[in-house]
Amino acid sequence: MNVSAHIEAVYAEVCRRNPGEAEFHQAAAEVLESLAPALERHPEYADTGIVERLVEPERQLIFRVPWVDDQGAVQVNRGFRVEFNSALGPYKGGLRFHPSVNLGIVKFLGFEQIFKNALTGMAIGGGKGGADFDPKGRSDGEIMRFCQSFMTELYRHLGEHTDVPAGDIGVGGREIGYLFGQYRRITNRYESGVLTGKPVGWGGSHVRTEATGYGAVYFAQEMLATRGQNFEGRRVVVSGSGNVALYAVEKVHALGGRVVACSDSSGYLVDEDGIDLELLKQVKEVRRERVSAYAEAKRTARFSARGTVYDVACDIALPCATQNEVRCEDAVALVKNGILAVAEGANMPCTPEAVRVFREAGVLFGPGKAANAGGVATSALEMQQNAARDSWSFEQTESRLAEVMRGVHAECRTTAEAYGAGPEDYVFGANVAGFLRVARAMTAQGVI
Ligand code: GLU
Repeated sequence: MNVSAHIEAVYAEVCRRNPGEAEFHQAAAEVLESLAPALERHPEYADTGIVERLVEPERQLIFRVPWVDDQGAVQVNRGFRVEFNSALGPYKGGLRFHPSVNLGIVKFLGFEQIFKNALTGMAIGGGKGGADFDPKGRSDGEIMRFCQSFMTELYRHLGEHTDVPAGDIGVGGREIGYLFGQYRRITNRYESGVLTGKPVGWGGSHVRTEATGYGAVYFAQEMLATRGQNFEGRRVVVSGSGNVALYAVEKVHALGGRVVACSDSSGYLVDEDGIDLELLKQVKEVRRERVSAYAEAKRTARFSARGTVYDVACDIALPCATQNEVRCEDAVALVKNGILAVAEGANMPCTPEAVRVFREAGVLFGPGKAANAGGVATSALEMQQNAARDSWSFEQTESRLAEVMRGVHAECRTTAEAYGAGPEDYVFGANVAGFLRVARAMTAQGVI
């Protein structure tokens, strides 16, 4: 079978075996489309079924999460953990608590995570998990009871050398604290390295909170530098207003750019003065309100429940909200307004059609598995500190993060060129570089 027919057959099998899992099909297609040149050069990978093995998770867990709400009513959610690939290290990837979570979403995220984690060059495999639990409007007590019930099942599958979850949408320091507490209680082990994203002071790493947002900005900065450009004086749009978005805003401002808009699921916010990060944090993290509350508190800002944040003209866009938020028409609008660069802070925020629009227009485009690798890379740094019972300074940790992001950027470009594409084909470079690292390890470890 020739290489393209082989890849097509694998994709057809992915769709047949995982019916209805549209996001997983999309994530698999995006990677598979890049692999022909790598398989042509390395027929041994095709011969040993590496691609067939890669698209099949090593283990998939689905479990009941029963808990009691503040009214005394019993609630039942569904929990997931997809342990996708452990050729390079323990399964590593976040937990997402959001009503949209289902097996297909977790599989798409876990699949992306394999290549992202490989790209960092660190010893971490790929996995992802979560639950269809909606934390919106829930009290602290409800969140705690939910986390405790979730961990009461999940703990048996975890371990610092086995599977190490962290946060994602709906899971931050508070949730990681509750999850860790329950793990510790059940196992009677203070196993710091079993979860990352812990608050600083009891095993958490400096910069982990900031890392995904900072890393995406570093990645964009590296891309811009190849064209002799930077953030200085640039108008920037950041979608979302969660953990990734907040720290992307902070780093853009530190580099002399101005973030003029951000969003949440209720609409978007424009502040031509530049987003006031302290106010946004107050609204989103302390008061846990919608972005419209920012516009109510600041005269220069306006909120819109119609249209999208991508209607706002900008030089650089950092999609930091969720999957498939940038549609074809949004990409067309951004290109029309003269966009220079897009770096994905979220996982797969751009639809395939939007990515095509950016690439055809010559826009610098950093795919999530490269541009947002800073979060998981800093998780791996947290694991290193935990293993050594050590704690590094903010500066030391941030310089390691910056070094990793420079490495990821360089790896994308050199791999893209080495396998016959232009150096600016970051999508191709990221997919091939991630694939090669995993394929080498899987080959060396036999048919497992
Ligand atoms: N959820 C994050 C991601 O998408 C972080 C995962 C981690 O730190 O393990 O990469």
